[in-house]
Amino acid sequence: MRIAVFSTKPYDRAFLESANIQHGHFFTYFEPRLSRETAALAARHDAVCAFVNDQLNAEVLSMLHTQGIKLVALRCAGFNNVDLPTAEKLGMKVVRVPAYSPYAVAEHTAAMILSLNRKIYRAHNRVREMNFSLDGLLGYDLHQRTVGIIGTGQIGQVFAKIMTGFGCRVLANDPYPAESVIALGGTYVDLPTLYRESDIISLHCPLTPSTRHMIDENAIDQMKRGVMIINTSRGALLDTPAVVEGLKREQVGYLGMDVYEEEVDVFFEDLSGHVLQDDILARLLTFPNVLMTSHQAFFTRDALQNIAETTLFNITSYERQGATPNAVTTEKHRR
Ligand code: NAD
Repeated sequence: MRIAVFSTKPYDRAFLESANIQHGHFFTYFEPRLSRETAALAARHDAVCAFVNDQLNAEVLSMLHTQGIKLVALRCAGFNNVDLPTAEKLGMKVVRVPAYSPYAVAEHTAAMILSLNRKIYRAHNRVREMNFSLDGLLGYDLHQRTVGIIGTGQIGQVFAKIMTGFGCRVLANDPYPAESVIALGGTYVDLPTLYRESDIISLHCPLTPSTRHMIDENAIDQMKRGVMIINTSRGALLDTPAVVEGLKREQVGYLGMDVYEEEVDVFFEDLSGHVLQDDILARLLTFPNVLMTSHQAFFTRDALQNIAETTLFNITSYERQGATPNAVTTEKHRR
């Protein structure tokens, strides 16, 4: 198949090329994000290969369909950027990489917690300036602290295991409780209980209309004063201005963000020579207790290899059988 790859970075190309040796497809690599402005680049291809910030709304899908694109191969797990009903109406198949490394994301989440709690990022900057003072670096033992996990799918389950390794008490919230979390001693509770009792709250549920802005002023007010909030899932789970207010009044004590609601034009790019136009992002970057990474939780060698291999498997399966177990459909993902 001829595949137009959007949002290509050098590492995507390297891993896709290596996996493609077994498959023999033809890739054209485009650096820009997929959007209405760039969709025309997909002409003369059979499929597009897209990532988290590519836009696959009704307009873009219709443009792709007109150009003969039959398959959207997502090289990520989340599919909130795809208008699935429109894809189905147009007869376009959407496939994804449902699991490439829950460990990568769960481990990055743990890294953010440790770094925020023990202020590793501040300590590192300090000692490089020959400042060996400990003032302002005080942390707390994770042992016996309560961690609230919202969403215990693949990533949430691995994260629960990591945190029980630190001796944390795990509270969880998910409409579909996981046996593995209960076996670890985790307890499923409603959100008000999780908010009230957790020292650390970590989000691992998908972005849907019902979870958008779930961490708003009302939720924050129910949390413990000084709570640590970690979001490695999708930016819009947080009502970001409400979180900024929570940080200003010190109700939120720590914030770890690997994702940001308005990350589309910022994350994955080197903007070091530009003037930042996003005032909320600029404000977030001024807090000493906010740690931000640029959607890198997935970014391990193991994950990139799995992403490339599964993407190629999906494309070849679609080409040969017209189907793959990794298809995304409104029917399958109704819950
Ligand atoms: P998953 O589908 O295995 O698990 C999601 C879980 O959330 C499911 O158990 C589901 O029942 C639960 N859930 C759904 N709605 C909920 C709600 N309203 N409240 C509580 N729980 C709810 O997904 P996963 O592989 O564990 O990934 C979780 C999220 O992590 C993805 O949706 C994606 O957005 C994000 N992600 C981020 C990165 C990154 O690099 N930062 C990488 C991969 C995935």
